[in-house]
Amino acid sequence: MAKQIRVLVWNENVHEQENATVREVYPQGIHGTIAEALKEDVDLSVSTATLQEREHGLTKDVLDHTDVLLWWAHAAHGKVENEIVERVLARVWEGMGFIALHSSHYSRPFQRLMGTSCSLTWREAGEKERLWVCNPAHRIARGIDRYFEIPNTEMYGEPFAIPTPDEIVFISWFEGGEVFRSGCTWKRGNGKIFYFGPGHEVYPIYQHPTVRLVLRNAVHWAAPDTEKWIDNCPQIDIENAPEKITTKGPRLHKKGEAGLR
Ligand code: ZN
Repeated sequence: MAKQIRVLVWNENVHEQENATVREVYPQGIHGTIAEALKEDVDLSVSTATLQEREHGLTKDVLDHTDVLLWWAHAAHGKVENEIVERVLARVWEGMGFIALHSSHYSRPFQRLMGTSCSLTWREAGEKERLWVCNPAHRIARGIDRYFEIPNTEMYGEPFAIPTPDEIVFISWFEGGEVFRSGCTWKRGNGKIFYFGPGHEVYPIYQHPTVRLVLRNAVHWAAPDTEKWIDNCPQIDIENAPEKITTKGPRLHKKGEAGLR
């Protein structure tokens, strides 16, 4: 068997503690249900982490051994420590895949990776969502027909304040008439990023078979296909320049000195 992809499902795990409806839909937590969906694929080695754990379960060691990180959050974006956000970003730049789910459009790591507000329009009416496949050849759309539907969902609509995606895999249409770029990809540094819209916590969306397939596909797509890129801004010694050069003018920096950050 090929090497398994090491997947970490991160969830803020707040609504499950505070809301009876969410607890009923996700008795093992949203992270537990997503992990169960991913474990249906033997090529994935899946673990979970939550906000409440020490360092939010995202220690340097854990992240160093993660190929793809999935992120679900809504009520506690501001409770994620800055240091942990920076740690996640650094790993994405090195090559770790990052999958932002539903209300994680407003999560700190996703906002930082996008560099925009990531706002959108929304409505909670339990309406139907039809997700159209824009790019049938894409790895994330593998095994999915022209479209699939989720019977009860929260509407997320345009304008979605994201930078223009590298690829749009899904566009959603909602019963109320709005549309939304619900499956988008980007690359940041060496890392691949996927945003996937469905996942409102009061509906059993992560039990939907096609949603689960999208998550498994997305992990395969987002897994790093190169070695880590350790981006440490190295100073190249004068004698190591590809062509022979001599120093001209004054120098501020000493030989061997690290780049300033
Ligand atoms: Zn929601």
